[in-house]
Amino acid sequence: MDWVDLRSDTVTRPTRAMREAMLEADVGDDVYGEDPTVNILQQRLAGDLGFEAGLFVPSGTQSNLLALMSHCERGDEYIVGADAHTYKFEGGGAAVLGSIQPQPIAHDVDGSLPLDKVAAAIKPIDPHFARTRLLALENTWHGRVLPMDYLRDARDLVRERGLALHLDGARLYNAAVASGVRPAEIARHFDSVSICLSKGLGAPVGSVLVGSAALIDKARRWRKVTGGGWRQAGMLAAACLHALDHHVERLADDHARAARLAQGLRDIPGLNLLGLHTNMVFVDVPAARLRELDAHLRAASIRISIGYLPTLRLVTHLDIDDAGVERVIDAFKTFFAN
Ligand SMILES: *Cc1c(COP(=O)(O)O)cnc(C)c1O
Repeated sequence: MDWVDLRSDTVTRPTRAMREAMLEADVGDDVYGEDPTVNILQQRLAGDLGFEAGLFVPSGTQSNLLALMSHCERGDEYIVGADAHTYKFEGGGAAVLGSIQPQPIAHDVDGSLPLDKVAAAIKPIDPHFARTRLLALENTWHGRVLPMDYLRDARDLVRERGLALHLDGARLYNAAVASGVRPAEIARHFDSVSICLSKGLGAPVGSVLVGSAALIDKARRWRKVTGGGWRQAGMLAAACLHALDHHVERLADDHARAARLAQGLRDIPGLNLLGLHTNMVFVDVPAARLRELDAHLRAASIRISIGYLPTLRLVTHLDIDDAGVERVIDAFKTFFAN
């Protein structure tokens, strides 16, 4: 039986059609700027999202890091969510490698950072303080789509206070598909956006950072410095272009399957449905039963991640079909019936 892997949308494997696109890719040395497929991907995403330039990199972590290092210098500060990926799940890279001080702010339940708290955290220009240069937001955040009017208000604040605005848009396309807007409608509020092609979009590897030509020039330099200058990366870029052509609209299927999963889990006694956001379902399971649940699901060829919380995050993606979702619902039902 095939595994139903609910741990993350990073686990997708390239489809046959995607592998064929990779095989056909024109390639060259990207450190020389000579990989035609990489160049097409970079220009395509920059154009689609309304920016001058793009930079293809191996991971979202590196894409965010390069953005932070390009917006900020040593001794500068960026304001970020206390539960943002950039702050919490990227090894502290901004501080470690960029000498950039993070100023974390607690998220509101919808994933936004309260703008009065952001404004209050901006430091005066004075030698006592780090220079606040950047606000970084995340959309989607734990699957939640940031409200459009919030993005406008955030833009107004940073304009007024002379900061730049970065978006960790690892799942920007999920946000756009869920709200029925073009991705550029979300991206236009930002000075830079990082997009993951390796999450729900289903490419095996790759993120793209988009921004002004000047910002991307700096980021390209930092990419080389951090060991991310790659050579015939066009085979990977071809997978990303294939994902953009074929896997964007179908994100709605992942959202529908997450909704079906939430519906199926809602009435199970012993399980507490906490939320449904785009392709993510959050449930609370008694901590004492987590290991037992994990073993039960594994026996049914279902993988979950029992991380650090009693809250389980179940993620739908390209490699989970309707039958897989029903199998998960049934397995949870039989577990909690005993
Ligand atoms: C996955 C993810 C990243 C980083 O991507 P990697 O490619 O795993 O480094 C950044 N931000 C968010 C919100 C993510 O979910």
